[in-house]
Amino acid sequence: MLTLTHLSASIGDKEILHDLSFTFEPGKSYALMGPNGSGKSTLASAIMGHPNIVTPPTSQVLMGTEDIKPLTPDERSRLGIFLSFQTPLEIPGVSVFDLLRIALEKKMDPVMMHQQVKMYAKELHIKDELLKRSLNVGFSGGEKKKLEALQAVMLAPKFALFDEIDTGVDVDALKSIATFLKKHLPKTTTLVFITHSTRLLTYVKPDMVLVMKDGTLVKTGGAELAKEIETHGFETL
Ligand code: ADP
Ligand code: MG
Repeated sequence: MLTLTHLSASIGDKEILHDLSFTFEPGKSYALMGPNGSGKSTLASAIMGHPNIVTPPTSQVLMGTEDIKPLTPDERSRLGIFLSFQTPLEIPGVSVFDLLRIALEKKMDPVMMHQQVKMYAKELHIKDELLKRSLNVGFSGGEKKKLEALQAVMLAPKFALFDEIDTGVDVDALKSIATFLKKHLPKTTTLVFITHSTRLLTYVKPDMVLVMKDGTLVKTGGAELAKEIETHGFETL
């Protein structure tokens, strides 16, 4: 369970998130929607502990009952929080094998890890050659997002945030990413899909839809809310 209590957040002297409270339940999936610039990625960064983001002492971010605000991103990651980037970083000289070998050190035998990654890559239609190349360097938009999905499944987080995993991805790739995540992530994992379109939601079928506007939550509802957004846009909310 991840709980946000009166979460406000600033970058420099600009306050971007304003007094946001919400509890994400284990095993449930959420769509976090909202127009461009509404603060979705900033919320993801605040949960992950981006060093540029400053939150006041009255804001709380709890994982279970533990206050994670003092923790660095790697410590939060070890607690089981995962963020898939809107724009995955290029890491010259480091392959996805290298990255996962280090991340899963002492948790998984490297030979088994290697086999597992290759199996998942096949399922996602990722070319073998990409697994050995520098991560994301020269990869297409779709390839980058597929590798984010693969890493999420390998790390088996408790709370997984996907920031625009649907952007720059064609219909077939999107379908295989959504099916893959649903199939292989632990059933108790909380899934949050950040998106500004409803295309992904036909595949992931969220339990709940949250809508952000101007840095705060303005509406929550069931899947029907996504349909309303598809028809009327965000303006009428
Ligand atoms: P979304 O992901 O919903 O499109 P963002 O969280 O990226 O929105 O941005 C929310 C607001 O915060 C925007 O007005 C954006 O310009 C601002 N913002 C984001 N990152 C920074 C930054 N590093 N410095 C200053 N303002 C930022
Ligand atoms: Mg964003």
